[in-house]
Amino acid sequence: MGKVKRKIKTIRIDADKCNGCRACEVICSAFHATPKYSSNNPARSRIRMMRDPLRDVFIPVYAGEYAPAECMGRDKYVIDGKQYDECGFCRASCSSREIFKEPDSGLPLKCDMCESDPPLSEPMCVQWCLNHALVYEEREEEVEESPKPEEMEIGLEALAKKYGLEKVMDAVARLGKKG
Ligand code: SF4
Ligand code: SF4
Repeated sequence: MGKVKRKIKTIRIDADKCNGCRACEVICSAFHATPKYSSNNPARSRIRMMRDPLRDVFIPVYAGEYAPAECMGRDKYVIDGKQYDECGFCRASCSSREIFKEPDSGLPLKCDMCESDPPLSEPMCVQWCLNHALVYEEREEEVEESPKPEEMEIGLEALAKKYGLEKVMDAVARLGKKG
């Protein structure tokens, strides 16, 4: 398999520019509401602003991967003499805390970079951050080419020969449910 170019989308966070206005939370939850823009609730947002106004601390944090188990440690950060709360910058949706979970269903929330059709010029939270604390950036990276459908078929055939068709079908069905 050869290498192919893939577009990597990132949002650079300049926490010094964040004033805690929470516009990013409002627009993210509205953009992902069904129907779109029918409601807004920061608890459904995939970006949350971690705040400690008395110490003038505002840090936007994006929802990342779901973590099925709590981690064993609790990180504390001290930056410029200010201590930040345990788990303060963590992006995971995990069982230790309520953040990054859909309030009604409890399902994990994850930033999807506002994937939509037609695509947006920039993610909504970036467009709504008037302080430019969130800056959208794109770059290209070379990655291994994904297997073509016919190569996957050959791969599945080999697995079926080795483990039996039923077991392979079960595993594929389980993977489908996880997605
Ligand atoms: S919109 Fe920008 S300034 Fe406002 S809370 Fe979000 S990141 Fe901070
Ligand atoms: S990029 Fe889109 S999905 Fe991700 S936090 Fe911003 S508004 Fe929400």
